[in-house]
Amino acid sequence: MGAVGVAFHPLAVGRCSQVETSGAGIFLNQVGYLPAGAKQATVRLADASQRGFVVRSVANHTVVFNGELGPASADAASGDQTSVADFSSLRAPGRYQIGIAGLTSDPIKIAPDVYASALRLTMRGFYGQRCGCAVDLGDGYAHPACHGDGDFHASSGKSGPLPNHGGWHDAGDYGRYVVNSGISTGTLLWAWELYPSALRGLSLAIPESGGKLPDYLAEIRWNLEWMLQMQDTDGGVWHKQTSERFCAFIMPQDDRLTSYVIGTGSAPYKSTGATADLASVMAVAARCYGAYDAAFAQRCLAAARQAWSWAIANPDVQFENPSGVSTGGYGDRQLSDEPAWASAELWRTTGEAQYEKAFLAGLAASGETLTISTPGWGDVNSMACWTYALSERKGNSAVKSRIREATAAAAATLVEHSRQNGYGNTMELRDYVWGSNSVAGNQSFLLLIAYHFHPDNAAREAALNNLHYLVGRNCLGVSWVTQLGVRPFEHPHHRPSAADGIAEPWPGLLSGGPNAHGGDAIADKLPKQPPMRMWIDDQRAYSMNEIAINWNAPLVFLLAAANS
Ligand SMILES: [Zn+2]
Repeated sequence: MGAVGVAFHPLAVGRCSQVETSGAGIFLNQVGYLPAGAKQATVRLADASQRGFVVRSVANHTVVFNGELGPASADAASGDQTSVADFSSLRAPGRYQIGIAGLTSDPIKIAPDVYASALRLTMRGFYGQRCGCAVDLGDGYAHPACHGDGDFHASSGKSGPLPNHGGWHDAGDYGRYVVNSGISTGTLLWAWELYPSALRGLSLAIPESGGKLPDYLAEIRWNLEWMLQMQDTDGGVWHKQTSERFCAFIMPQDDRLTSYVIGTGSAPYKSTGATADLASVMAVAARCYGAYDAAFAQRCLAAARQAWSWAIANPDVQFENPSGVSTGGYGDRQLSDEPAWASAELWRTTGEAQYEKAFLAGLAASGETLTISTPGWGDVNSMACWTYALSERKGNSAVKSRIREATAAAAATLVEHSRQNGYGNTMELRDYVWGSNSVAGNQSFLLLIAYHFHPDNAAREAALNNLHYLVGRNCLGVSWVTQLGVRPFEHPHHRPSAADGIAEPWPGLLSGGPNAHGGDAIADKLPKQPPMRMWIDDQRAYSMNEIAINWNAPLVFLLAAANS
């Protein structure tokens, strides 16, 4: 179990300093801030009469900024009495520390490229999750090829081997799940379309580096190729490829359990969610890869069309684990949003009327009120709407403007939440669920789309506030990204990190974060505290400290925005 929290000494820049997590302290983004961006730290003080603070240069201790704390207030999410130290007008690049009432903060870096290495680190996290090839991230984080060809499980409607490999291990386990691959890969490809300046030149040092694809697209292709292999000849897509149960905490090459292609157990065997998500992602891929590899883009588009037709013909095939299978389910009972996303993406890619008609019909059927909610693997309705509104194609201008308005309204609510939260994040108390850090990430996704529609700086700053929260401006003073910041967490529920014999975990991975509801033996034993405090740096606490590709993806999206 790792120590988390904050030590307030100018020299305490080592990892995982010993600390108290509820005493006085200064909490801020441990990576740093952009020169022109808002800069706020959260301060907890024993003596609330202390109001003045200073910012000093690390190099020569000169005071470069004098400020007054904002009013102290009770923060419901953490149970803390907090004040904000706002030093936004300090814009000169450099390294600084805040001083107040005998406390000194962690060093604060201000630089235009302050998030460049974080973007690279978190995107390389996907390379670290690769299945079916040798992986070498450097510094000993490596493994030989794992998980060879699959076998059709009895639930798939077929039998015998399926020669396939590839994809990303989903999370702390070695399963591969099309639905979760869908939202993750879709989010990453959207970042490519929206933030090309941050991603085109990104160097990831992966096996494909130097080839015809930019590294970012090459890494994503590794997962797309696996997804394509999960499509049956009739266009339907099997839900997942995993062993029947989770393996022990061993390295992936040592996992000898059969890798099964798992279906729904009865005809049509493939699921609507997996098939529609594949259609969506392949339609986006057809746009992204066309300029570099026309043949691959055509393959993606053909797969998308075929999957869409299958999903429209089979609109309600839910997935539940068949008998004898206990790996992740990603089962979804609301299956109208997935085909809507596929229809909107295919229309955006091809301009063909049948796809637009299907999207608009689905929208009309969902009622008068168009609601934009935070996206997640089980709810892609917002992505369906956004891609329609983002499309360069003319479309229905009234629908497009309704989507933009609903997005602006949802963003305004999040901005208000950020103002009310003692640590600046955009979450409500009910958002501290399993994987809450991805709720923060996906709320930033929403805010950044709103900013794209209408460049209101409050939306962009609220999006960045979640980044600040994830990497240090939280009540525990922890960075929830492995090997990033002054006090990154140390013990993810992640098999390679546990089994590789290296003390530090694999780099660039986002913890699930605080979870007020428990869900594993360690979490369930924690004393009840305000929701932001319901987290522990313990490898066994999978409901609080697992990592997952769909949690890293919105973080990469956010970092791409921050770098553009
Ligand atoms: Zn593998």
